[in-house]
Amino acid sequence: MSPRDARHPALSAIDPDLAALIGAEETLQAETLRLIPSENYVSAAVLEASGTVLQNKYSEGYPGRRYYEGQQNIDRIEALAVERARALFGVDHANVQPYSGSPANLAVYLAFARPGDTVMGMALPMGGHLTHGWGVSATGSWFRGVQYGVRADTGLIDYDEVRETALRERPKVIFCGGTALPRTIDFAAFSEIAKEAGAVLVADIAHIAGLVAGGAHPSPVPHVDVVSTTTHKTLRGPRGAMLMCREEHAKAIDKAVFPGLQGGPHNQTTAGIAVALREAAEVSFASYAHAVVANAKALAEALLARGFDLVSGGTDNHLVLMDLTSREVPGKVAAKALDRAGIVVNYNTVPYDPRKPFDPSGIRIGTPALTSRGLAPDHMPAVAAWIDRGVAAAASGDEAALAVIRKEVAELLTAYPAPGLPVA
Ligand SMILES: *Cc1c(COP(=O)(O)O)cnc(C)c1O
Repeated sequence: MSPRDARHPALSAIDPDLAALIGAEETLQAETLRLIPSENYVSAAVLEASGTVLQNKYSEGYPGRRYYEGQQNIDRIEALAVERARALFGVDHANVQPYSGSPANLAVYLAFARPGDTVMGMALPMGGHLTHGWGVSATGSWFRGVQYGVRADTGLIDYDEVRETALRERPKVIFCGGTALPRTIDFAAFSEIAKEAGAVLVADIAHIAGLVAGGAHPSPVPHVDVVSTTTHKTLRGPRGAMLMCREEHAKAIDKAVFPGLQGGPHNQTTAGIAVALREAAEVSFASYAHAVVANAKALAEALLARGFDLVSGGTDNHLVLMDLTSREVPGKVAAKALDRAGIVVNYNTVPYDPRKPFDPSGIRIGTPALTSRGLAPDHMPAVAAWIDRGVAAAASGDEAALAVIRKEVAELLTAYPAPGLPVA
């Protein structure tokens, strides 16, 4: 039996095709520099908790109030996850059942708005999320979505514009947070605006939850009505989500998730979330969160030194949004070339992008995954150099240069094994 088969003996025997694909993915994740800011490496403990007999259970309802018997252990597992979420984020109430970030946000709409109501969020091409009322999303077709953005000259949220829009449009719900925001979100400013406009304020911290938990980004908790988050980005848990709120909204949130939107919770995910929350309460996780930011700042500086244009001129958090217009390489061409060079990024719109969303001007990069491997700020000049060479090779079509980078990347990474992956 190969070492790979030994890791998944039953799967290798029953379905060798799938086992081979998973093995290939393990190799890919081990040998490439993963810079997608929404991705990470979960710990072996989270992986173990997520792949257990908890898969076998149906548990509609909440701990102590289930529609199925046999919940003796499941109730305790979910209660543990809830307790840990409350303690870590300092909230009255946590619901750990949303299947992922998008359904979590849908539950927020169900709790606080009716179809046709006005809702407000950051525009998708400015860095917002689809589920913040953008047109192609159900949230933008069932609700009347109005959007705010960032200023063209600074790349920063213009809180005066947010306030003006909110007072003019009177949304029921305002979302703050997004997917491509390199700067600190001023939750207190949003709170003042929401109060003035009479709106429910939701902080969607899907990207930055781990930074908030680790004290590397201010917490929205004192300022907002509801906190929505995924558990699989900087928080380094399994793919899932949580909704957190003050006691006054607890019933509305719980009712919206179940029975409003979902059936049975994914108990194996709940267990993985519980483990991730325990890990995130460790002192070492606070160090991790600060290291993510230190790495992003060092990477931004090294990219600026190489003449790259960064939206907002840098970063306060885990991500950097690069505008490649001056390099005369479309984001998608650069992203695909970097992928061949073993550097995994995603192409992304930049604010006021003249190009189309499926073929935009920028790439989005982030440091959560490489920080989980133990890379430090003094590695970032090398990472910036690879990106620089990769983008240049994309422009000139130099495949050989990309292959050289891929080798160099893999070589560095052998010294920094990723959590949860087999050590070669
Ligand atoms: C990732 C993300 C989501 C959605 O999460 P999924 O799990 O992909 O549905 C929602 N909001 C924000 C801000 C995100 O970054």
